[in-house]
Amino acid sequence: MSLELHVLGTSSARPAQGRSVSGSLLETLEGIVVIDCGEGFQNRLVEHRKAMKEHAGRRIKVSRLSAILLTHGHLDHTWGVLPWLQTLALDGRKDELFVIGPTSPEVIDTLIEGEGEAEVDPSDLVIQYDMWIDLGATTETLGYELSFVLGDGERWYQLGKGLLEELPQPLKGAEISAHTTAHTIPSFAWKISNSDRLGKFNREKSADLPMEMRTKLANGEDVQHDGETLLAKDFRDEPRLGHSIIVSGDTAERSIDTDCDLLIHEATFLETHAALADDHLHSTAAGAARTAVACEAKHLALTHYSGRLEDHTLSLDEARSIHASVVACGDGDRLRLEEDGSLSHMVKTDNGWLTS
Ligand SMILES: [Zn+2]
Repeated sequence: MSLELHVLGTSSARPAQGRSVSGSLLETLEGIVVIDCGEGFQNRLVEHRKAMKEHAGRRIKVSRLSAILLTHGHLDHTWGVLPWLQTLALDGRKDELFVIGPTSPEVIDTLIEGEGEAEVDPSDLVIQYDMWIDLGATTETLGYELSFVLGDGERWYQLGKGLLEELPQPLKGAEISAHTTAHTIPSFAWKISNSDRLGKFNREKSADLPMEMRTKLANGEDVQHDGETLLAKDFRDEPRLGHSIIVSGDTAERSIDTDCDLLIHEATFLETHAALADDHLHSTAAGAARTAVACEAKHLALTHYSGRLEDHTLSLDEARSIHASVVACGDGDRLRLEEDGSLSHMVKTDNGWLTS
């Protein structure tokens, strides 16, 4: 497994057609981040973890969580944060947790100056952060270090601490970056790229060497053998290249300016409602595919469907006419980027997952 995304909600704006609002959990080899956390997120996570244990034979270890990344402040993406923060405390969490999301430059200015009031949209994350803190989302109350960070696309500000030099990187072995998108309030697409890793140690190549030498080579140490220097790097297979995944949040089409292996993009509407998508700065399924082409995404996964869409058949058809590798997510699906860059789409069923 290179990167695996557990998609826990694919509905836009409100629960509809059996779908829940936004929230996804990304597992890398070294940790977990959650991207968006709408109403009822933790309930869905409980069910999903149970299904993983029963049908996939492994546990999602929530203790490995290091950050909640929010794409924007609309409540269908954020209303599940506060109760989940409290549950993490009940579960005995001790490690630092970052909550990171976008705001406007005016808000960052006001935070830096420490006075005055920026004109703020009621959905702006700064209001929600303040409210959550008032309701007890603090390090003192919860017993683990909680760090609230806001960004405006240029600057990062941590509440109670001040301006940061850069975006915190709480996920080991991976790089997180934020990319401003076009929505009705400040919004980010989040990109997570895991680093290249050494190739596997090739046991066969070293089979004739004494055990001690093999251990050294496997640990990256060059060794002397029969008057020759054996280089540790020659005993490894090709390096395993890192992969990247972007989760778009809500956005008009073609607003993402960076490439990736897998793009998870909102597809609120179909082309028949393109005008509505434009008016509300959302995308159609075709628009998501045009974005994927423009940002050279190898694979596209659709999500965030309007309540008027009964299922995602038409969305999938529309996007597939534009991009060669498209899947449509349902609630509980898993998307896995394999070591070789191929995509596995595991579709949730009542009895586990079927690979499509
Ligand atoms: Zn939304």
